Amino acid sequence: MKSHVKILATGGTIAGITRTPARSGYHAGQMGIQDMIDTVPDLKSLGDISGEQIANVGSQDMTFEILIRLTCRINDLMKQDDIHGIVVTHGTDTMEETAYFLNLSVNSPKPVVLTGAMRPADAISADGPLNLFNAVAVAADPNARERGVLVVMNDRIHGAHSLTKTNTTSVETFLSPVNGLVGTVNYGKTAYFRFPFRRHTYLSEFSSRFCQPPHPLLPRVDIIYACIDMPPDLIDFSLAGGAKGIVIAGDGNGNMNQATIKNAGQKAASGTCIVRSSRVPTGTVSRNVEMNDDTLGFIVSDELNPAKARILLMLGLSNKYSQDQIQQLFYSY
Ligand code: GLU
Repeated sequence: MKSHVKILATGGTIAGITRTPARSGYHAGQMGIQDMIDTVPDLKSLGDISGEQIANVGSQDMTFEILIRLTCRINDLMKQDDIHGIVVTHGTDTMEETAYFLNLSVNSPKPVVLTGAMRPADAISADGPLNLFNAVAVAADPNARERGVLVVMNDRIHGAHSLTKTNTTSVETFLSPVNGLVGTVNYGKTAYFRFPFRRHTYLSEFSSRFCQPPHPLLPRVDIIYACIDMPPDLIDFSLAGGAKGIVIAGDGNGNMNQATIKNAGQKAASGTCIVRSSRVPTGTVSRNVEMNDDTLGFIVSDELNPAKARILLMLGLSNKYSQDQIQQLFYSY
């Protein structure tokens, strides 16, 4: 049977237009999905390809409203036997957050593959067309099933849990620094090295009822960036503004100064979830290294960077989990 891959477009540089191909200025999210498909005629060699426009934004303007619509559309489409996989086109700025959100909320073992571009569609050496071709090839590939949500960029296949954007302009921007690649894809030819070892998609406790009423209410969670002499009352401003949980983008192994530890510890003791993550781009954050998380009541993010830790904390809080249960989430997802 011919593979049927649906491409859901959300915008980003892959749909961006510069009109000055050798300069850096451009607008993301200008081209529609059909034009993107038409610029890569070879997609037809991979199967039946159809597209749908979900949004057309630079990914710095992605919202949870769009993400929930996207998840629920994916979950509906995946129920159809004739859909083999889904590609989501997306800006690269927040691609890792969307990939991780979908990794927790999509309820299917079929491939979901995000892709994008670092160069606009009409730039010199635009990278979007080949990224789209490779992403569709992975989505059409039965061997990509049960690997969670994947990101295909620059011939690499990344897992949603591990990848992070590391360069503001280079086409080689995404790395999976702690756990490595899921695989590679070269002009549509795939190779796989591993299955992601954390719970995801159809095995996630969040995905089975995510798109059924009552829809989960995602509470506000703020990220606070640690630095020399950081003001401890940033936490108070966040909580006063309605945050129900806090992620600290800590220095080093999730550290913060003594004044912030004291304030955060008081908030944790009165029930606020305080997650220690790190502003360092690679490595894990562990419990009880330079402070006693057991007595202070803090949660550590393990491998998740602050942006992904925020998403997991939002979902954990929406399920009304305790601090201990939320700590366990960070070891499971
Ligand atoms: N800021 C834009 C976005 O994330 C451009 C980055 C990109 O797509 O490469 O949509």
